[in-house]
Amino acid sequence: MQRTEQGGIIISCDFCGTDWDAYDESQQRPMVEGHRGSVICLPCLKQALAEMKPAADPYFCTLCVREKIEPSLPRWFHPAPVPSPGLNAHAVACRDCIHQAAGKFSKDQDVPWRWERGD
Ligand SMILES: [Zn+2]
Ligand SMILES: [Zn+2]
Repeated sequence: MQRTEQGGIIISCDFCGTDWDAYDESQQRPMVEGHRGSVICLPCLKQALAEMKPAADPYFCTLCVREKIEPSLPRWFHPAPVPSPGLNAHAVACRDCIHQAAGKFSKDQDVPWRWERGD
């Protein structure tokens, strides 16, 4: 997600709340954008690939902004409550978005990570 702070735009992961700091290269976390400014960072994506599970009820995906997704499509959300104020603590990623983001990270030359597709 994006917010404006002291005249600059800050981008942070919708799932863990980590800021993407455009001014400090060493602090940069790779991130992939979804719809409406939603963002997932690589650590969250890795966790999502490992932990996604089918839902109990139809759900909304923060990244593709689809509503009433079939519960049989696995989804992931950050297991810990997100402390950052103003952040959506219930950001959810569907498997389609998780796979799409994994593909994008895998193709990014700056990201030292490759997706080992298991299914
Ligand atoms: Zn994150
Ligand atoms: Zn989605």
